[in-house]
Amino acid sequence: MKWRDLMCGEVRPEQIGKKLTLSGWADTRRDHGGLVFIDLRDRSGVCQLVINPERAPGAFQLTHEIRNEFVLRAEGEVVARDPEAVNPKLPTGEIELQLDKLEIISRCPPLPFQLDEENVDETLRLRNRWLDLRRDRLQKNIALRAQMVGVIRRVMEEAGFLDIQTPILGKPTPEGARDFLVPARLQPGRFYALPQSPQLYKQILMIAGFDRYYQIAVCFRDEDLRADRLQELTQLDVEVAFPDLDELFSLMERMLKAVWSECLGVELEAPFQRMTWDEAVTRFGSDKPDLRFGLDIQEATEVTRDSEFGIFAKAPCVRFLQVPRAYSRGELAKLEEFAKEWGAGGLAYIVYGEDGEPHSPIVKFLSEAELELFSSAPGSTVLFGAGEPAAVARVLGQLRLKLGEELGLINEDAWRFLWVTDFPLVEWDEEEKRWDAVHHPFARPAVGHEALVESDPGAARALAYDLVGNGVELGGGSFRIHEPELQEKVFDLLRISPEEQRSKFGFLLDALAMGAPPHGGIAFGIERMLMVLGHEPNLRDTQAFPKNQAGADPMTGAPSEADPKHLRELRIKPIVPPS
Ligand code: ASP
Repeated sequence: MKWRDLMCGEVRPEQIGKKLTLSGWADTRRDHGGLVFIDLRDRSGVCQLVINPERAPGAFQLTHEIRNEFVLRAEGEVVARDPEAVNPKLPTGEIELQLDKLEIISRCPPLPFQLDEENVDETLRLRNRWLDLRRDRLQKNIALRAQMVGVIRRVMEEAGFLDIQTPILGKPTPEGARDFLVPARLQPGRFYALPQSPQLYKQILMIAGFDRYYQIAVCFRDEDLRADRLQELTQLDVEVAFPDLDELFSLMERMLKAVWSECLGVELEAPFQRMTWDEAVTRFGSDKPDLRFGLDIQEATEVTRDSEFGIFAKAPCVRFLQVPRAYSRGELAKLEEFAKEWGAGGLAYIVYGEDGEPHSPIVKFLSEAELELFSSAPGSTVLFGAGEPAAVARVLGQLRLKLGEELGLINEDAWRFLWVTDFPLVEWDEEEKRWDAVHHPFARPAVGHEALVESDPGAARALAYDLVGNGVELGGGSFRIHEPELQEKVFDLLRISPEEQRSKFGFLLDALAMGAPPHGGIAFGIERMLMVLGHEPNLRDTQAFPKNQAGADPMTGAPSEADPKHLRELRIKPIVPPS
């Protein structure tokens, strides 16, 4: 039996007069003055079926049984729609299939949710993912993802990169998350770790002489889930030997340009802007600034050092935002609440009314030089951050984003890509009282900063960079340490004991000691890229089968309890009963 001559969305006026068979899902059914209309849907679109009781009495009879999402096979003749029934929004809107024969191939019970319903509970959607995935938006996302990965592969292969698969069962690779562990039955008491990234394997591949590696790699990170995190994510993972920063950046720009051009028809301008981490954090209060709008944070510390306003005088750092709106008291109180949530003590402000005069309880303390610096257009507000530089950046950065959005300053049609370079090598963990790697422990210090690893680690910058698109961190990487001695020094700084260095990273240190070329690379988050590319706000909906917020899969029920026999073989005894 022939299922179909064409896909539903492919029928065109050229086929008028022809007999066709189509198969697909019943998207909608409408009864109209004796005629029944069914929109038959598949991945390509919909085609309208018309069932006329005089022409096809058997088919007409059957239509009474048909419900949404039944699978149907339909035979008929392509006819032109009446002029008033033409739907210019549909590629198949000028024609319909006048049926001769109709078969029900599969049935479907009443649906747990309608496919065009918005705001359906996520667990319900994931539980019935086969239905959820039939929706237009998800069909588009998954197809876009496949197209994007196809383009990426082509660009990488054309540039001479080898796709090399690395193990899923391996040793821990620190990327700042917890490891997923897999018990090893053949070595009781031992565990594999699922890769947080192929980081160490790709470095070994460079030491092994492969020169240019890439992989579309699945990575596992046992994180407490937040909106922008996944436990199972996919990366475009890249590494090169003898790296040149400009070359690496331009290769990645070529990849992104090709993706945007082929998937969206948008021509991105390259080279992308570059900015040091210090500048990004000072000017935008973020290491992933959204450059689709201005509202730069401004520096005031020099001028406020001798301020009569005590809070300014005492603060190691004072910065401000000039917001193009004169806020009311009530609005300012709300903004202050917001600032406090991000760690501010309060929110000093100056409102410039329509008269252009500054209004604020602090104005009387401010010198002429201060007022001159803060001076803003009539109908605007100056908001201040005062305190430690990192805290000021955080608070004003968050305010900038919120206000940019609220005031409609973001150009939603713009594509702004930015390289953020020269990240700090390490940051101080106040709770643990130790230095943590900002990127990962294998990132190399910036040229000339090697000695700072011992003398002033906080001042050391790394040869590490991120690629930010419209305020989303799309990728990140670094040049690596290829000298075993320097790698040991960085491990020492991170308080990884010599024994731990051996047991966790002995293989890396051994490999680095046997002719390691300079190397470096980058990884892009496929899901993050898709979010930006496809304007998809929900990170989980960039994957066909995501886990929910609690890391569970409501469809399959994973994670599930293990068979006690299996656990015995693994010599594992749960100390807490499964919840
Ligand atoms: N492994 C790093 C990451 O997953 C990327 C890199 O350094 O190439 O973020």
